[in-house]
Amino acid sequence: MRRVYLDHSATTPVDPEVAKLMMTYYTEKYGNPSSVHSFGRDAKAALENARESVAKLLGAQPTEITFTSGGTEADNLAIFGVTEAQSKKGKHIITSAVEHHGVLEACEFLEKNGYELTIVPVDEEGLVAVEDVAKAIRPDTILITIMHANNEVGTIQPIAEIGKLARDKGIVFHVDAVQSFGKIPIDVVAMNVDLMTVSSHKIYGPKGVGALYIRKGIRIIPRIYGGGQEKKRRSGTENTPGIIGFGKACELAAQRMEEEAVREAKLRDKLLRGIVEKIDYVKLNGPQGGEKRLPGNLNVSIQFIEGEALLLSLDMMGIAASSGSACTSGSLDPSHVLLAMGLSHEIAHGSLRFSFGAQNTEEDVDYVLEQLPKIVERLRMMSPLYDQAKHSQCSRAKAQ
Ligand SMILES: *Cc1c(COP(=O)(O)O)cnc(C)c1O
Repeated sequence: MRRVYLDHSATTPVDPEVAKLMMTYYTEKYGNPSSVHSFGRDAKAALENARESVAKLLGAQPTEITFTSGGTEADNLAIFGVTEAQSKKGKHIITSAVEHHGVLEACEFLEKNGYELTIVPVDEEGLVAVEDVAKAIRPDTILITIMHANNEVGTIQPIAEIGKLARDKGIVFHVDAVQSFGKIPIDVVAMNVDLMTVSSHKIYGPKGVGALYIRKGIRIIPRIYGGGQEKKRRSGTENTPGIIGFGKACELAAQRMEEEAVREAKLRDKLLRGIVEKIDYVKLNGPQGGEKRLPGNLNVSIQFIEGEALLLSLDMMGIAASSGSACTSGSLDPSHVLLAMGLSHEIAHGSLRFSFGAQNTEEDVDYVLEQLPKIVERLRMMSPLYDQAKHSQCSRAKAQ
């Protein structure tokens, strides 16, 4: 059976070049980067080389990069690190309704512990309005945290405008850019960003590695204390093989990004066209135009069917997709992102995310377009609601 992986927003395979390089740092160049001998110096040099590669892809300076155990830790370091450092100035935080749990849960923890939180809404395409952020700002606002691109529907937020607003008011601005990093161009300077979260395993690097960009001059209080690694911002012996793999993945992303974005958008559009052509009662979730959406993202709701049932049936045919985010797909709660966009519970439940990546081909799309309509037809045969909808449409057609 053909196997088609269309869940690259959840994670990606490690690029063979990345894996090969990492292996060297597990078995040969295994020194502790804090050691003074040649083993340590080799590891240290490679670590700093990786820092440069990450910085380059962000338009940042290497000294502004702090390595972490992933995107979630970087989000937490940013949010707790800033609020701790600025708690004398105020206790108000602004975020959006469509953030990743790494941001939302950290903010909600702070809300339960003496901070005030304003969650700005999004429109039906998942977009934050700059005016809403402006309206939410108060004299005691110390942090604005809004993501660059959404992990479920791919919506790209107006980060540079929000950043300008924050900069003018002297408020620290954090951006979770895990989904956009290495996929579309990022320039932390032009985007007026103070802190930015990135992760390795979404760009063909290893899991358990990420980084936080901390603009020169921004003060954060560490979350982990110990040997003072990462300029005392994040202690603990560095995950050298992982970080070096992450650096390599950044180099490859820089080379491939432009071409790959065009290629994936084409595959994505082909899949959408095919789905709309072959299946009725389908809704495209998120941005309706391509330019406000990540190139590799497609999110559709197939009405009268549970997304979970669709996922299981697709999986039996070797197709890996996702409904909502990977963290919540174990539960039957509809995605907070789709609900924030105003979708009904029923439509949100029928949502399906396809996220494209480097190995996907036209043949993959053809295979999905061959299997999905059959699965939908079978599942809908068991749906009384679909039956009703079809009948009311027939009677409407007759009446006209
Ligand atoms: C995957 C993801 C994260 C979490 O990153 P990890 O490295 O898996 O901890 C955070 N934010 C967004 C938008 C993501 O897609």
